[in-house]
Amino acid sequence: MKQDGTLLQISTMMALLDGVFESETRYGSILEGHDFGIGTFDHLDGEMIGFDGSFYQLRSDGSARPLDPNTTTPFCSLTRFTPQQTLSVDKEMTKYDFEQWLSAQLETVNSFYAVRIEGQFSEVKTRTVARQEKPFPPITEAVATQSARTFKQIEGTLAGYFTPRFGHGIAVAGYHLHFIDQERSGGGHVFDYTVQNVTVSFEEKPRLDLRLPTTASYREADLESHDIEQEIKLAEG
Ligand SMILES: [Zn+2]
Repeated sequence: MKQDGTLLQISTMMALLDGVFESETRYGSILEGHDFGIGTFDHLDGEMIGFDGSFYQLRSDGSARPLDPNTTTPFCSLTRFTPQQTLSVDKEMTKYDFEQWLSAQLETVNSFYAVRIEGQFSEVKTRTVARQEKPFPPITEAVATQSARTFKQIEGTLAGYFTPRFGHGIAVAGYHLHFIDQERSGGGHVFDYTVQNVTVSFEEKPRLDLRLPTTASYREADLESHDIEQEIKLAEG
């Protein structure tokens, strides 16, 4: 039986930093039992967001489409989301203030959490990376081709995870969130946002099922020589 507390992590941020953008993991082979997540696609062909069992591919041309289970992923974090707590915020708060407040609501910041923020935002700034071709550049160069977008006065959903500091490198420490608008027409990896009138729900995820790739590109990657703090900041904002 599926354990609700488990967070399934396919590969790591460290591998993305070194340009491991290909995988043999089909989304169709890992989605079962999960209804929530974020991630990316082979060749970094867009950003993934999923909640309520619906998963989407957000591409650099600004489009959004339902995820094709035959696509493969070099990085994703999936779970079954059963909120432990749902809170409302009905005043404007910047990302910094909101996340400070939210972290104070978590029972501990020493665990992983799935987080969903839904409602009206004054602003959401996103990016979607453009598809990369071989030989793959490190992600810090790949993001130079990203398309940035600012949504103003927008309704939609932010979904993602809180990762404790020690998980930096497996995932992104702090809040890593993706966005899709209410019409399911666009979104991306979130750089910045200001909430206006939202509900936020979260669930602690004390079990991590980490699946490292067994591909040659992963085995041969140089994961030792990266400045994790600086490079993840450049790549993920
Ligand atoms: Zn992201």
